[in-house]
Amino acid sequence: MAINYGLDGKVALVTGAGGGIGRAAAEAFARSGASVMVSDVNEAGGAETVALIEAAGGKAAFVRCDVSNAEEVKAMVAATVASFGGLDCAFNNAGINRITDDQYDDAIWERDIAINLSGVMRCMREEAAVMLQNGGGSIVNTASINGLVGNGGQPAYTAAKHGVVGLARHGALRWAKAGIRVNAVCPGVIETPMTAPLVQNPEMKALIDGMTPMGRMGQASEIAEAVVWLCSPAASFVTGHAMVVDGGATAF
Ligand code: NAD
Repeated sequence: MAINYGLDGKVALVTGAGGGIGRAAAEAFARSGASVMVSDVNEAGGAETVALIEAAGGKAAFVRCDVSNAEEVKAMVAATVASFGGLDCAFNNAGINRITDDQYDDAIWERDIAINLSGVMRCMREEAAVMLQNGGGSIVNTASINGLVGNGGQPAYTAAKHGVVGLARHGALRWAKAGIRVNAVCPGVIETPMTAPLVQNPEMKALIDGMTPMGRMGQASEIAEAVVWLCSPAASFVTGHAMVVDGGATAF
């Protein structure tokens, strides 16, 4: 699918854009005419995303940023404004999901929350500061269906993703009159590097496919389309929404 959502002249920032959902979203923003700041801790992945966008005729640059580091987040947003002259659309998508034996280990909890929840808060804080000066914008945070329903295996991931939905609702209310819309996207199970270990196990893959009413995992591009739509003028009255894109997994 190659829909143009009318973002000519706009500037988009995507975290976790070195692969998976972030890369697909960065490419979709560029296809719709936006200049894209690609950000990730993975420099090689980020450079690859920039190359893909440029090869397709789009405009992109890369800035390395660990979203769990407040100073790096500040510098990432500043680099976006310095490179492209503003910030209109922000997709706070960087995240980790580790399957470990002891999910109640303090260090695992702190690290997961630092990236998956505090990272989103820090990005929102810096992005909104720029958007407030420039008359508005649109922010989308990547949550998960685990931001809406429980996951018995992963307390930190589940808590963080519920928090990400909460942050979107908070931001929507805080900045509604300032012209900033804030939404969350809640993917089901999507084929990306994050889920590659599951896909490589045929039994696990069959189990996941079977749990989804549509009978398959989603593709990164299917999340990207929702994100760019949410950021576009077509969604001008949509804010505080947690958009589920999950093949029906939470429709029961
Ligand atoms: P992915 O692993 O392919 O991509 C995540 C990206 O985030 C990677 O490029 C990684 O380098 C980057 N990243 C990790 N830690 C970072 C940090 N501290 N700072 C900056 N970048 C960092 O995974 P994905 O599936 O594309 O996941 C993207 C988002 O979607 C995540 O927030 C994830 O929780 C969420 N999600 C994924 C699925 C799924 O099934 N794949 C489902 C629901 C939600």
